[in-house]
Amino acid sequence: MIQAVGYATNHSFTDLKPLKFERDEAKPNEVTIDVMYCGVCHSDIHQAKNEWGNTVYPCMPGHEVVGRVSAVGSAVTRHKVGDMVGVGCMIDSCRQCAPCKEGDENYCEGPNSWLATYNGPMVPAKKAADEKNHYGRDNTYGGYSNVLVVAEDFALKIPAGLKPEAAAPLLCAGVTTYSPMKHWGVKAGSQVGIVGFGGLGDIAAKMAIAMGATVTIFTTSEEKLDEARRIGATGVPEENLKKEVDPTNPLTLSFDFILSTVPEKHDLNPFLPLLKRNATMVICGDLGPLMPVNNMQLASHRNGVAGSLIGNLADTQEVLNFCAEHGIAHEIEMLDIKDINDAYKAVEKGEVRYRYVIDMATLKAEDAD
Ligand SMILES: [Zn+2]
Ligand SMILES: [Zn+2]
Repeated sequence: MIQAVGYATNHSFTDLKPLKFERDEAKPNEVTIDVMYCGVCHSDIHQAKNEWGNTVYPCMPGHEVVGRVSAVGSAVTRHKVGDMVGVGCMIDSCRQCAPCKEGDENYCEGPNSWLATYNGPMVPAKKAADEKNHYGRDNTYGGYSNVLVVAEDFALKIPAGLKPEAAAPLLCAGVTTYSPMKHWGVKAGSQVGIVGFGGLGDIAAKMAIAMGATVTIFTTSEEKLDEARRIGATGVPEENLKKEVDPTNPLTLSFDFILSTVPEKHDLNPFLPLLKRNATMVICGDLGPLMPVNNMQLASHRNGVAGSLIGNLADTQEVLNFCAEHGIAHEIEMLDIKDINDAYKAVEKGEVRYRYVIDMATLKAEDAD
């Protein structure tokens, strides 16, 4: 067993605090990682507070993990000791279903779906068709910790051109927005709308611009209009949009793709008239029930409203390489792990520009009980 320390909470209503725990030693196909940085994702907060109703406690969040390989199992070929690697939302999948065989591990259809970096399998035993847990672990502890052990193929390579701390948020926020843009064919010349300009919207806009798209950011924050301009996008106040078709709005029927990154329930109707014929609006910021949409509007231009969940391993490596190549990354604010509970409050208020990254060197074993 590896003696580890991290930050976790035992209840939906208590703060995260230091926790000593044990991790299994690396199996032959696994690598052990000394965690250096971990991004703070809005999902961490939803999960810590049981806002999706599926949290397993103790809950130790963190799925934007960057660190150095400190040990490798005997069968490992992809990584060696000293390599800088990243781990995103998944640490395993069934490896046998059609999506897994086709490289879409994030859409694993195995009985327990994929194994999340924290909070255990996406489908727990009690909800699985065979009522079993094929991963043998009901809970997993994420990257708010000093050490992580994962299967080698779920550890991505951090390219030399990326600062490791800035690479961390790409492992969830980056791939969550990159993957739908790739799937729905964003390319040079595309007109792309990004709704919400926080941790996801910031990187989505930068990547779309790097792909050669023209980007419009819809925001409710006056001050973010200038920030949009600064990265080369056009900022549009959301309140300028009408819920019905507005023939006087030059943006009507002008977008090839719109991505909503808003992390809560949000009215989509003002955006639908902006989609070109056959275009799709994808919701990647919120996983709850959508507000009703006017299907007359969708039907009139064969539009779609779709969901997208993180991205597969290949896309995760691709987004890291893409951002290294184009010299883009999140704006990040470094965080001492003892300030994590205050950071959660700031994320909930939308006060972060644009992603917190925990410097794991601030985690001290002696602080833990
Ligand atoms: Zn996340
Ligand atoms: Zn699978």
